[in-house]
Amino acid sequence: MVNYVYKEYKTALNKLKFPDSYFWCRYTLNPYVGCQHACVYCDARSKRYYLENVEEDVIIKVGIAEKLEKKIKNSRTLLPDVIGPGGVCDAYQPIEKKVKNTRKILKVLRKYKFPVNIATKSDLIVRDIDILKEIAKDTWCTVGFSITTTDGELANFLEPYSSPPDKRFNAMKEIKNNAPNIQTGTYFMPIIPFLEDNDKNLDDVIKKTKEKVGDFVVFAPGLTLRDNQKEYFINKLKNSKYRDIVEPLLNLYSEGYDSEQMNSYILTQYKKLLNLCKKYNLNIREKRWIPSDYRKWNYLIAEKLLNEEYLNTIQGKPNDRIKWAGLYLNNLKESIIDVYRRGKLHNLRNFNSKIIEFVQPYLEKGLEEQKKKSLDRFL
Ligand code: SF4
Repeated sequence: MVNYVYKEYKTALNKLKFPDSYFWCRYTLNPYVGCQHACVYCDARSKRYYLENVEEDVIIKVGIAEKLEKKIKNSRTLLPDVIGPGGVCDAYQPIEKKVKNTRKILKVLRKYKFPVNIATKSDLIVRDIDILKEIAKDTWCTVGFSITTTDGELANFLEPYSSPPDKRFNAMKEIKNNAPNIQTGTYFMPIIPFLEDNDKNLDDVIKKTKEKVGDFVVFAPGLTLRDNQKEYFINKLKNSKYRDIVEPLLNLYSEGYDSEQMNSYILTQYKKLLNLCKKYNLNIREKRWIPSDYRKWNYLIAEKLLNEEYLNTIQGKPNDRIKWAGLYLNNLKESIIDVYRRGKLHNLRNFNSKIIEFVQPYLEKGLEEQKKKSLDRFL
């Protein structure tokens, strides 16, 4: 039984300090608080989110679309950037069918030409193809289905009130067939050790994404196992036919998430996932939305840096300098091409000679583009 509470909030939109480099979101917004999908591994149960009963008490945010519109209309500084509806909730959980908070929000985003990235475990999103299609035409739209297994029974245990995996995959295909300009794919995360990390499941999920004409598989092996989240998940496992994985799972996490043991496990999984994505010719990163204002080359080059850092990380060679250079570049208040022209690149945060060498070809392209533009204006 879900207890629905209607509540008004002062703010609708949350701006992140740095864009999320998996989904490229700069803003987040939750149409609901809590989530009826009730996934047994849900991280929203951990103490850091201060949510008591994630799946039993669902708050419906009253007037959220109107508040969002007011915020966009009245703000002189709010630049369009990717909005990700749903963080610690699924924007398409069952109550959305009746309340339509997400649909109303999408209408506002369409009106003001804000790009959008949606992650969901529900095929209800198909209802909104009409709006998503227009957002994709005017700016950028990505729909990622969170799918971690093709085994219906296992999915029913892990995510009892979400759409079954087959329905999610079919929704992916339907979106792509109706709106090829919407970027679609699978968020293969979290991949539960000993339940979903076997070769067959990894292959099945990635192969199915290809069959359903997805563009990408963004993957993340392992899962966080924090305080209340861990307790809830382990209890559910113990009382299920999957109880045999409890011991190996706890052993794997016994030295913590940042331990060498865990690191080695994750790198092995990354290698397999990377090879499978190559085999099925699927991107492992989403293509980023690129603005047409002064941020254009900042975002383009930040994307290159962050993709490079991601590749390094999944091959066991993380480089924090590249990561921070990429993240801070998103916040630069002028075009990096102007900084380059003034010969001041080394003043940018975390830019050293190696990073400058890496981004040089893109800077040259940007410079060329600027020159061409001023010439066109002159002619
Ligand atoms: S869909 Fe996401 S937010 Fe909702 S219960 Fe599942 S993991 Fe949690």
